[in-house]
Amino acid sequence: MGFYKGSCFCGAVELTVSGEPAAMGFCHCESCRRWSASPVNAFTLWMPEAVKITKGAKLVATYSKTPHSHRKWCSICGGHLMTEHPGLGLTDVYAATIAALPFRAGVHVNYGEAVIQIRDGLPKQRDFPADMGGSGRLIAE
Ligand SMILES: [Zn+2]
Ligand SMILES: [Zn+2]
Repeated sequence: MGFYKGSCFCGAVELTVSGEPAAMGFCHCESCRRWSASPVNAFTLWMPEAVKITKGAKLVATYSKTPHSHRKWCSICGGHLMTEHPGLGLTDVYAATIAALPFRAGVHVNYGEAVIQIRDGLPKQRDFPADMGGSGRLIAE
């Protein structure tokens, strides 16, 4: 069973994740790209109870553009921490936030919105897998 510490950019907020992530991969959706200011977002999805903020909880700010995603960051440094997805029942802790976690991507999601092509041989979901409410359609590399 894994146990990993993470922190925001400045270190004022610390968190832990425990157990194994439900999934790891890359999201290419416009929301992830715009919020992260990055062409792709590396995600790790956890059961909400597996994620604990261990320091600086009062510093964590939240923004919800839609009810599907509660985006959280450190109000001192602006460093992103996680996004809660209540509808999915999972929390995305950004891979970059938990540097010690061995990141092993298994899938690309929302590849239909991709602005960079990553030819790594992993499955490319056009949107989401069917068991996550998506079409399950794959896009060739
Ligand atoms: Zn910070
Ligand atoms: Zn996304």
